[in-house]
Amino acid sequence: MTRPLPDDLLKVPHRREVPFARLTTLGVGGLCRWLFEPTTEVEAQAFVRACAREGLPWRVLGGGSNLVVLGDIDVPVLRLALPKVVQVDGRRLTAPASHGHIALAEAAAAAGLSGLEFASGIPGSLGGAIRMNAGAYGREWVDVLTRYRFLTPEGELVEKAPEPGEFKYRWSFLTGGRVVLSATAQLAVGDPAAIRIQVAEYRARRGTSQPLSKRNAGCIFKNPPGQSAGRLIDQAGLKGLRVGDAEVSPEHANFLVNHGRATAAEFAELMDRVRAVVLERWGVALEPEVEIWRG
Ligand SMILES: Cc1cc2nc3c(=O)[nH]c(=O)nc-3n(C[C@H](O)[C@H](O)[C@H](O)COP(=O)(O)OP(=O)(O)OC[C@H]3O[C@@H](n4cnc5c(N)ncnc54)[C@H](O)[C@@H]3O)c2cc1C
Repeated sequence: MTRPLPDDLLKVPHRREVPFARLTTLGVGGLCRWLFEPTTEVEAQAFVRACAREGLPWRVLGGGSNLVVLGDIDVPVLRLALPKVVQVDGRRLTAPASHGHIALAEAAAAAGLSGLEFASGIPGSLGGAIRMNAGAYGREWVDVLTRYRFLTPEGELVEKAPEPGEFKYRWSFLTGGRVVLSATAQLAVGDPAAIRIQVAEYRARRGTSQPLSKRNAGCIFKNPPGQSAGRLIDQAGLKGLRVGDAEVSPEHANFLVNHGRATAAEFAELMDRVRAVVLERWGVALEPEVEIWRG
């Protein structure tokens, strides 16, 4: 970003030159040149309004668990740092978008509320989960979401209930400069012991099928209609394919893992090679499930 940033934007708490290795679960990428971390909704609104007024492009980051960053990102990046307070009101649970997703599922369980068990193994932030309509085991956020607050691309604050068409499979309309600020889930009173057993079962399933000891970004490619991306990659003999420190996981072929020092270039090359082999072998063009940010 060669343009100087306006003074009101620079009043929002920010850091410079932060490696994406520290901001994403995968741990690859270049530098985040401008990382804005508002600690209040008012500061977040000031960020969005200043960018809108100046016509500045920008991006929003959550826990970085669905993201592959390939290079330095020069535009301002917004990462909410709102106080992580969970409010429980009867069967309703409200939290800020910056709250850890797994920690939120744990808070619901501790309050004896059932409905967020599916979330107990999905990393990242609540904001990212709402934006992605994250889900697992046949449940997804829209099943429990009852109200949410967000900023429009112009910085107006909106609070509303979800409406038909706003959330679909791993998709929501909360893109294009909209920022989720908080969300409320409508849950059910549950037996704390039963909730814990369900959570433990879900975690055990993940532990045996996913390479959780290595840095990763979850499933890298979308399942093509009626097919499994992991199976296509596996049956093309690509498990264990390695470019530098980036590898197709031997445990789960749709997980590409970072052995520690993988670079963005290695990761990009591994993704390209997997796509090329699957296209040649099966005639299927794999699409990324993760979001890719290129510098
Ligand atoms: C080991 C592992 C297992 C996973 N399992 C699952 C699973 O079972 N089911 C599933 O659905 N996903 C899964 N994921 C993917 C990922 O965890 C989810 O998509 C998660 O909800 C992303 O949240 P995040 O905060 O990390 O978002 P990020 O990766 O930071 O961002 C993802 C997208 O959300 C946007 N975003 C982030 N915060 C906000 C905000 N406040 N307002 C608006 N937009 C925002 C970003 O701009 C980006 O477009 C898994 C990932 C890993 C690493």
